[in-house]
Order: sequence, then C-alpha cells, then structure tokens
Amino acid sequence: MSLDEILTDAAREFAAVTSLPVLDQVKARYLGKSGAVTALMKGLGALPVEARKQQGARINEVKEQVETLLKARREALQREALERQLAAESIDVTLPGRGDAPGGLHPVTRTLARIERLFASIGFAVADGPEIETDFHNFTALNIPQNHPARAMHDTFYLAGDGATDGGRLLRTHTSPVQVRYMQQTRPPIRIIAPGRVYRCDSDVTHTPMFHQVEGLWVDETVSFADLKGVLAEFMARFFERDNLAVRFRPSFFPFTEPSAEMDIACVICGGDGCRVCSHTGWLEVLGCGMVHPNVFGHVGIDAERYQGFAFGLGVERLAMLRYGVDDLRLFFENDMRFLRQFA
Ligand SMILES: [Zn+2]
Repeated sequence: MSLDEILTDAAREFAAVTSLPVLDQVKARYLGKSGAVTALMKGLGALPVEARKQQGARINEVKEQVETLLKARREALQREALERQLAAESIDVTLPGRGDAPGGLHPVTRTLARIERLFASIGFAVADGPEIETDFHNFTALNIPQNHPARAMHDTFYLAGDGATDGGRLLRTHTSPVQVRYMQQTRPPIRIIAPGRVYRCDSDVTHTPMFHQVEGLWVDETVSFADLKGVLAEFMARFFERDNLAVRFRPSFFPFTEPSAEMDIACVICGGDGCRVCSHTGWLEVLGCGMVHPNVFGHVGIDAERYQGFAFGLGVERLAMLRYGVDDLRLFFENDMRFLRQFA
C-alpha cells in the first residue's frame, strides 16, 4: 500500500466505525504490530541511506496524520456514547418530588401546647413529674384517705407486686402528684401548671385508659377564690376565642380542695341554646377546681395559716374535642391518618 492509500483508507474506515471496540480493531490494521504503517517502517531497512531518510520522514508524517484521524474519531464516538447514556438516563425534572410528606402535630399535642402557651402568658411555669408514682404522692399527700373509692383496684393501675398501701407504686391517676413534689421542693409563691399523661381503668366513648390532664396551682399569701375565677374564666375565653364567654361555678367535692367547684362554660357549639354536645343544657362542664385543702399543705410542709392557694384540673382531650368538634374520644388514639391529617 502506498502512503496516500493508507491515509485515504484509514480516513474512510475510521469514519465508518460506530463503536469504540471496533475502532481499536481498525486501528491495529494501520498502527498495530502487523499494521500497514508498521510494515512500511520495517521495509525501510532495505533502502539506501538517503532514500531511507526521506521515506522515513514521510511515513512518520502519515503515521501522525493517521493518529490524528484516530483521535478525532475516538473523541466523536465517546461523545456520542455519553449523549446516548444521558438520553437513556434522563430525569424528568417536571415530575413532582417524592420527598417525605410533611408531618403534623397530633391534635392533643397541639391542644397541650396551646394551653401551656396561654398559662405561660399569665405567669405560670410548667412542672413535670414521673408517670409511675408512689401511693403517697398520688393519694395520701392529696388528702385521699385509705378508704377513698379512687384507690379501688377498678380505678387505678397498680404495679405488679404492689398493694394499695402507702409505699406501693401505681400509674398516676392525675397530675396532682407533680404539685405535691413541687411544693415539697419549692416555697411559695408557687404558680405552676402540670401537664401530662394519666391512667385509669376506664374505656368507652368518653374514657380511655390513658389520657392527658393539665393541673394548675397558685399558692401565695393572698390568693383567693376570686383569683381562681378570674384566671380560669380568662383562660377559657382565650382558649375558645370567645370574648364574653359565660362561665359558672357549681359546688362540688374533691378531697384535696375546700371549697371545691366544677366550672362550666356556655356551650361553645350552640352558644347556649342547647344541643346534643351540651345535652341541651347550654352548659359544658370543663374542669374541677377549688382552694387547696389545709391538709395538703400539711403533707408538704407549707404553713396553711400563712399561705393559701387554688388548684384546678382539666382534661386535655375534652378541650380538644370541643375546640375541634370531635365527637368520639377514641379517634385521638386510633392513629387513623384520615383523621389526623385534618390537623396537620
Ligand atoms: Zn350546646
């Protein structure tokens, strides 16, 4: 083959190649050990010195041109391969993302946070305590005597091996023991709320074995029943966002307060006209409250002659049901996403 033939053949063959492995095979035909260019190089030895120089220079020139052609074709094929790959793996950026669905707070958590925020705004600190309590903190210190019905096995979860006696352990039936612990450690003035989970052996449309309570306590030298009424009426009006929310207090009995009262608010569903939620009375019972019993102060070492205070307890689920218009307490704990998504 002449040098010119080699160049034109190489150009044609390289152009016809469509894949990189084939290009390497074609390359061998020209530049390989037994390729055309190599064969011409080998023939140089037979030529006279001058002719060998000239021919050698020309062969090198052609060799370089073949290599240039080869390099250009290789780059072109690599580019094509990359473009094919990109096209095959293309990402449609117009598709909506598959990221995690945004989470939301549980309606009970939202309600708890709202209650804490409102009480914090009038100076109440949040206190916390254990859910597994001693009989003393849950009952005795709160002036609940041994024979009180609340201590009965059918109301309280006692821990295995423990009896219904002082020193026994149980799941707290209210967050009142937090108040006891707080008063044992802190001297008045005291202004706290105690939110948290509580447990009772109960299960129906309006009761679950676990539910949430917020209890409150304000102890100082001059705290009166008028303060109790003012704080709780103001809280309910702000919680339900009703400016002139009517409230009423009915006499009641709790072992740990004296006097004790149940607080009602005008039904927030019907506005007081009467509906199914308020049993057509126009009133909703929302919490229990009263002035702290002197015996409770005695158990925690606070001078009942010098200090007085009020306490209250409310059910968080109850307020959440009224605020969101939920008619079955169990919905809060069934984890049905169709229900929970409405609050996210
Ligand atoms: Zn009503």
